[in-house]
Amino acid sequence: MLDAAFFRRWMTATAASVDREAERLTALDSPIGDADHGSNLQRGFTAVAAAVEKEDPQTPGAVLTLAGRQLISTVGGASGPLYGTLLRRTGKALGDAGEVSETQFAEALRAGVDAVMTLGGAAPGDKTMIDALVPAVDALGDGFVAARAAAEEGALATTPLQARKGRASYLGERSIGHQDPGATSSALLIAGLAEAVD
Ligand code: ADP
Ligand code: MG
Ligand code: MG
Repeated sequence: MLDAAFFRRWMTATAASVDREAERLTALDSPIGDADHGSNLQRGFTAVAAAVEKEDPQTPGAVLTLAGRQLISTVGGASGPLYGTLLRRTGKALGDAGEVSETQFAEALRAGVDAVMTLGGAAPGDKTMIDALVPAVDALGDGFVAARAAAEEGALATTPLQARKGRASYLGERSIGHQDPGATSSALLIAGLAEAVD
């Protein structure tokens, strides 16, 4: 079972890896975006980690809805509302249970990813965060390590794609040949799950 402490560790592990990888995320956002993805998420997840520490939410759902709210209110770019929706919707789907099973979490995360697709209109293959998140959710039944591998593979597989959503889509064919920054940060988020296991 996964308790609130697990979800708090997930958020702090993600904040740490986003912090570590911020320069790389911004560098990926340079050729096909506006070179702010790393700083956007650094600001957002720093706020998430601080809020989780200060408010000490006591259920899995409360941790994720708090995190989602922080991302929406602190990240200006497209990724803020999208990641915010992912975590808020996942948190809402977990309800107010004190502990959730891995299966319940996988179902909730699926609802979160679906909400991101509804909000942003992206489908798999559009060269967005969805290309890491959908394979991760599909693999989650095989555990967090499998989900991490699927997300990383999904992020790498965005390189030959032409972007059809977000800022990178303005470049048309010139978006081909670059890894998507949002898919790369989604792989960090999913990798945080394996790190949060104690
Ligand atoms: P901005 O483009 O506003 O500067 P960021 O640089 O923080 O925002 O985030 C860019 C990332 O957001 C992209 O790499 C992509 O993965 C993701 N993204 C952009 N638009 C969408 C969308 N409509 N649906 C899903 N993901 C999207
Ligand atoms: Mg950007
Ligand atoms: Mg921007």
